Amino acid sequence: MTITLRPCSPKTKGAKDFLSRAVQPVWIGGRWRVLPDSFDSHDPASGALLTRLSKAGRTEADQAVEAANRALGTPEWAEMLPAARQSLLWKIADLIEAHADELAELECLDQGKTYATARFGELNGAIAQFRYYAGYATKLTGQTITPSIGYAPEGKQVMAYTRREPIGVVAAIVPWNSPLLMAAMKLAPALCAGCTVVLKPAEETSLTAVRLCELIEQAGMPAGVVNLLTGFGHEVGEALATHPDVAKVAFTGSTEVGRRLLGAAQGNLKKLTLELGGKSPAVVMEDADLSLAVSGVARGIFANSGQVCVAAARIYVQRGIYDRFAESFAQTARAMRLGHGLDPDSDLGPLVNAGHASTVAAMVESGRSSGAEILTGGETDAGYPAFYHPTVLANVPASAELMRQEVFGPVATLTPFDDPDEVIAMANDTEYGLAASVWTESLSTAHRMSAQVRAGTVWVNCHSYFSPELPKGGMKASGWGVENGAPGLDNYLENKTVCMAI
Ligand code: NAD
Repeated sequence: MTITLRPCSPKTKGAKDFLSRAVQPVWIGGRWRVLPDSFDSHDPASGALLTRLSKAGRTEADQAVEAANRALGTPEWAEMLPAARQSLLWKIADLIEAHADELAELECLDQGKTYATARFGELNGAIAQFRYYAGYATKLTGQTITPSIGYAPEGKQVMAYTRREPIGVVAAIVPWNSPLLMAAMKLAPALCAGCTVVLKPAEETSLTAVRLCELIEQAGMPAGVVNLLTGFGHEVGEALATHPDVAKVAFTGSTEVGRRLLGAAQGNLKKLTLELGGKSPAVVMEDADLSLAVSGVARGIFANSGQVCVAAARIYVQRGIYDRFAESFAQTARAMRLGHGLDPDSDLGPLVNAGHASTVAAMVESGRSSGAEILTGGETDAGYPAFYHPTVLANVPASAELMRQEVFGPVATLTPFDDPDEVIAMANDTEYGLAASVWTESLSTAHRMSAQVRAGTVWVNCHSYFSPELPKGGMKASGWGVENGAPGLDNYLENKTVCMAI
């Protein structure tokens, strides 16, 4: 397997102009400000410096939360009619769409992903998020309720109704794997609900968050409703997570940091949604369409170089087709072309940085020393420190670190099984419960297994399909709460009951 790293640079004027700035600003209370401290942002494929980002800390976290708190009560935001909020969200979607090529280029350069993944997967996903929740802004209703118990002292009747009110200031903390999409998945429902937001992108990939906020300003968002802080998790992230005036943290990231946030939320008992890690199984039955399963599971694990929370990392294949599946699957992995995300010939880009590629390599080595057989991959390339070849391993013991911990890289394990009950136990033998897929032509197997697997999403004959209508969350150590759909919106709303004796 080879890596072809041709020099690549952005074509759009927007991306070029953006990268020509020496330091990117933060956005607090409607004002853009370059901070005195800054840090580098690199292209992981080439190692080239892209730009620098302002490094926010506790002071800026306090300022941004104060601005968001103030905006919460201003007439421009608090009294904005639902139809106006709908139009505003729709306008943001239109602006993202108009700038989608530029945003996709920035995402490729910053994160390493391929242009196709960025433009047609994630940008379209972000646009759909804003349009979906734009529609909800005019449909937020409470209930009228007639209680059974009368109000005895004056013998009056009781009438009650519920109101749904914005939860308050939301700290939206997002990871580096799909930066713009993850930001949209938090901003769209939060704004639909009438909350105000401080957005904290991951330090590794903050470029599109800056550009997205510029578009949000252009759409006409009142000052302070959305604020952006770039910086490090243990500094500005922690300052937001512990802040007494943040009502809710909407977090997507690792299970390890998710656990820390539980402690950070204690002070004011802030609400938390935690979209965390996974170790998702794909179960391939003997009656599956083999070529569909091979290509679908390969996309499920290797897309975005495996840096996907729901990646199909543990693949269980029924014994009768195991050898054929393994051969074809390894061949598919071997044929993938590695290169710069902006190179149209690349199937996979680099990992987010060289450090992460080393972590992935170390996990594969631990699998090898636990007795696993490498069917393909397992290699690094001296001249390309952030790249890791798509890797398929067989015979990995169920107790090995590689089978139990999230790798977050292009690494799949293959395990044979004999009967459906056995594979359900194998699939559920994990602390995680984010997603799973079942590959079968049998309707009853599809329904039975979907019910038996402990995971927030189960796909049948597909993997990693998302749409804003579909609630997405994790069971077990994969998280708390869900994003998307009506349940995703509920996370940003408080329910108030108004009760009157009449
Ligand atoms: P991470 O947990 O290291 O960081 C996520 C975000 O949290 C970043 O913005 C980071 O700066 C911030 N952060 C770090 N420490 C913090 C602290 N002490 N207080 C507050 N904020 C802090 O995760 P990552 O490495 O950026 O992303 C990869 C992880 O995200 C993987 O585990 C992946 O499975 C998970 N993920 C989950 C989903 C999902 O929907 N379940 C989606 C994408 C990624």
